[in-house]
Amino acid sequence: MLDCLIIGGGPAGLAAAQEMSEQGLSNILVVERDVELGGILNQCIHNGFGLHTFKEELTGPEYAHRYIEKIKELKIPVQLDSMVLEIENAGSYKKVHVVSTAKGYEILETKTIVLAMGSRERTRFMIQIPGTRPAGIYTAGTAQRYVNIEGLPVGKEVVILGSGDIGLIMARRMTLNGANVKMVLELESHSNGLNRNIVQCLEDYNIPLKLSHTVVNIHGKHRLEGVSIAQVDEHRVPIESTIEYVPCDTLLLSVGLIPENELSKSVDVSLDRKTRGPIVNEMMETSVEGIFAAGNVVHIHDLVDNVSAEASKAAKNVIKYLEGQKKGDQMVQIVAGDYVSYTVPQSFFVNDQQKEALEIMFRVTKTDRNVKIVVSDDKGEVLKEFKRPVIAPGEMEKIKLPRQLINGIEGRLSISIGEA
Ligand SMILES: Cc1cc2nc3c(=O)[nH]c(=O)nc-3n(C[C@H](O)[C@H](O)[C@H](O)COP(=O)(O)OP(=O)(O)OC[C@H]3O[C@@H](n4cnc5c(N)ncnc54)[C@H](O)[C@@H]3O)c2cc1C
Repeated sequence: MLDCLIIGGGPAGLAAAQEMSEQGLSNILVVERDVELGGILNQCIHNGFGLHTFKEELTGPEYAHRYIEKIKELKIPVQLDSMVLEIENAGSYKKVHVVSTAKGYEILETKTIVLAMGSRERTRFMIQIPGTRPAGIYTAGTAQRYVNIEGLPVGKEVVILGSGDIGLIMARRMTLNGANVKMVLELESHSNGLNRNIVQCLEDYNIPLKLSHTVVNIHGKHRLEGVSIAQVDEHRVPIESTIEYVPCDTLLLSVGLIPENELSKSVDVSLDRKTRGPIVNEMMETSVEGIFAAGNVVHIHDLVDNVSAEASKAAKNVIKYLEGQKKGDQMVQIVAGDYVSYTVPQSFFVNDQQKEALEIMFRVTKTDRNVKIVVSDDKGEVLKEFKRPVIAPGEMEKIKLPRQLINGIEGRLSISIGEA
């Protein structure tokens, strides 16, 4: 029986495996459905990865390569081209159903699991854009794979819907690939992408960003011929009088990532309605004992460095779990207060032995300047405040709370945004 089976060989799975191995846990296995390790990073050939972890600006494949080299050096067992289909909870251990061309159908037994399956993209079907069904409509990630890995030209006259980081990066990528990116449309009144990406991917190439706009119709029989776009009101309803026709042969959809949790559901892991990832405690342990999770499967990260750090944390806690270390006395829920959409973790333990500060990651729901992050208890008493010159929904926020501040707390802990 394995000590730990890691599902997914992207940055989260790789960092978890490396941490476990370096701490002496060798009876582990990484199972990856693709034919190579690296996850989504393999198709992200732009730079901007690893500024925190390696203090260098790397491309996605370079960042992945550093971890893959470590995996080889540490001789960590990896099973590629193998898809995990189901997880069964057998009490003190888990059964993992895997299918692969090399080994056929197998049921592997393991004491613990790290879920590191990443995320998938929302599609046209999920956002229900009306119109015909011609060729030329891609999710941004599919187009990125075609252009960067397969070397295929995706289109010439391009409209992009969605201004998250993938949409922004693809606007630049398509331009460098010789296409004319006519505009990037964003349903919200703000972009959810990193500010540096708005400057480097749109402004530097004079690509217009139309906020509060969406695609309301798709035209074309065999190949896309154009889209109808419209401004939306404060309820996101298209304003009829603003509809205009934009000729184009390609529409890229960058309308959100969804944590990939079909497997988690198969073993009754509780999911958070906001993140759509597993609810985790501060150990990155899910509601099912012995099943941990890290990376985009838990919540969508903007920076891969945070993914790696979160996975290392999960790995350290897998070891503590296997050693039978006590978790803590009482679990305290963390609540997303005013202008906070979610927190990860969603709970922590009140534990006198715990020395490390409690790290909480969260996203805000509005863009604002000169605000403070307010941490308060159930009675509304403010425990700590953190000033922020600027906050935006596209940028993950991170705070650290010293243990002495939270160890005596009862009830719930609330994180909210207030005026500075
Ligand atoms: C277009 C784009 C641009 C980005 N740009 C930046 C940037 O500039 N800087 C930055 O820091 N971050 C960037 N990111 C974010 C970063 O790439 C992600 O946060 C990171 O890749 C998430 O890592 P992960 O391991 O959680 O998921 P993934 O990288 O998605 O890896 C998940 C892995 O799990 C495997 N898997 C899933 N299900 C199964 C199964 N059932 N069985 C076996 N294997 C399975 C998948 O094949 C995949 O390899 C970008 C992301 C995208 C998509």
